Amino acid sequence: MMRLILMGPPGVGKGTQAKRIAARYDIPQISTGDILREARERNSELGRKAQEYMDSGQLVPDDLILDLMEQTLKNEKCRNGFILDGFPRTVPQAKGLDTLLDKLNIGLDLVMVLEVSEDIIIKRLSNRRSCPECGAIYNLLTNPPSQDEICNHCGSELIQRTDDQPETIKNRLKVYRDQTAPVISYYEKQDLITTINGTGEVSEVWERIFSKLLF
Ligand code: AMP
Repeated sequence: MMRLILMGPPGVGKGTQAKRIAARYDIPQISTGDILREARERNSELGRKAQEYMDSGQLVPDDLILDLMEQTLKNEKCRNGFILDGFPRTVPQAKGLDTLLDKLNIGLDLVMVLEVSEDIIIKRLSNRRSCPECGAIYNLLTNPPSQDEICNHCGSELIQRTDDQPETIKNRLKVYRDQTAPVISYYEKQDLITTINGTGEVSEVWERIFSKLLF
């Protein structure tokens, strides 16, 4: 049983590491970004409402995100724990999550914050590619696919996210500094924060994370 939050700026490696944690502990990875991208692809009402914010690197309004998370966390698959990736991203979302967890009569174990410098983030995001079919994530410099722009796992053509363009990346980093960084102080007051150095190879970062999960 493990209930975790993985925080950190865009491009820090949250998605990659959250997938590893999910596999290692057999808990679902709940990525609001992934859920919203799927909703957008299905052209659902949520997807249509979220699209404009996502394309410009702004945050989707808190009420939409909290409704979505209420539905998700009530689901049976979250009963034995979860790893939240990309949520909460504002203090009102963190407060909303506390209310929701109280209602479900459960609490958080740990909030991990991955840290890397902004120069590295910009480099990582502009070289990030992902598979639209199976969700695998690559980096053209540090973790390229074996065949140019083709997914190693399922053979689909890789894509660059529309919000990984230079101007949008700058916007997203500003949004993180202004709106998401205060969430760290919120959880510091609850004594839940552990900070992890996110530089280096995926496996090195994983080792650092794993050593903090042995509680
Ligand atoms: P991500 O894949 O986590 O970088 O999320 C991509 C985009 O989805 C963000 O830039 C936001 O527009 C939106 N998004 C994802 N999670 C949230 C959240 N918790 N609150 C508001 N917007 C979000």
